[in-house]
Formats: sequence, structure tokens, C-alpha cells
Amino acid sequence: MEGCVFCRIASRELPAEIVYEDDKSIAFADINPKAPVHILIVPRRHLPTLLDAGDGDDRLLGHLLLVANSVARQQGIADRGFRLVLNCNSEGGQVVFHLHLHLLGGRRLGWQPA
Ligand code: AMP
Ligand code: ZN
Repeated sequence: MEGCVFCRIASRELPAEIVYEDDKSIAFADINPKAPVHILIVPRRHLPTLLDAGDGDDRLLGHLLLVANSVARQQGIADRGFRLVLNCNSEGGQVVFHLHLHLLGGRRLGWQPA
């Protein structure tokens, strides 16, 4: 989608520190990391929020979790532990309206999501 920062990263129009990509998804370092490892896992297809995913998207959503599995291992945080975060809409803290998972790790994480 024109003007969407994550679509532009996915099409290599904007630079990013890409750590993984395949035909359905791309994963890159968050520009403002909240932990030593902070990777965004993004479907190539522009879905603004989780609420825009439907019945036909079950494979894509499952795929994003498997990408998180593999990127967590690649980043060396699988055994120590990590967290996945999906923010949805304004009160959920979503700022970029292209569906994404945050993969966070590399230190003991607190639990103050609210
Ligand atoms: P959210 O609040 O869940 O929408 O998270 C959006 C995330 O995207 C934030 O953590 C931002 O730091 C990150 N972000 C925004 N622009 C970029 C960019 N150009 N490259 C990498 N990460 C970005
Ligand atoms: Zn987009």
C-alpha cells in the first residue's frame, strides 16, 4: 500500500536491517529497540490490523508465529526466552497500521503491558 512504511521496507524502497525474509513475510530490526533484540515480523501483504485478517488468513497468521520461532533461534534468544507482542488499534498502542509482531528478548523482560 502506497505510503505505508512497512510495505516500503518489504519492497526494499526503504532501508532496514533485514534478518529474515520469505515469500510471505519479512523480519527486520525495530528502529527504536525496547530490548537488546527487538525484531518486527511483518506479512508482505498489507493488512492494517489483526482485525483485518479473516478466515483465509489462518495459514499466514500461523506462518508469522513459525517465523518468530525461527528468528528467535537465529537471534540466540530461543532458550533464554523471549516475548511476542501484537498491538491492535489506538488503545492497544498500535502506531504503524500494517500488521506486525514484535519479537523482544536478550534481557529479562518486565511485565507492565498496561
Ligand atoms: P506499534 O506501536 O506496534 O505499531 O509498533 C511500531 C514499531 O515500528 C515501533 O516499535 C517503531 O519503533 C517501529 N518502526 C517505525 N518505523 C520503523 C522503521 N522505518 N524501521 C524499523 N522500525 C520502525
Ligand atoms: Zn503496509
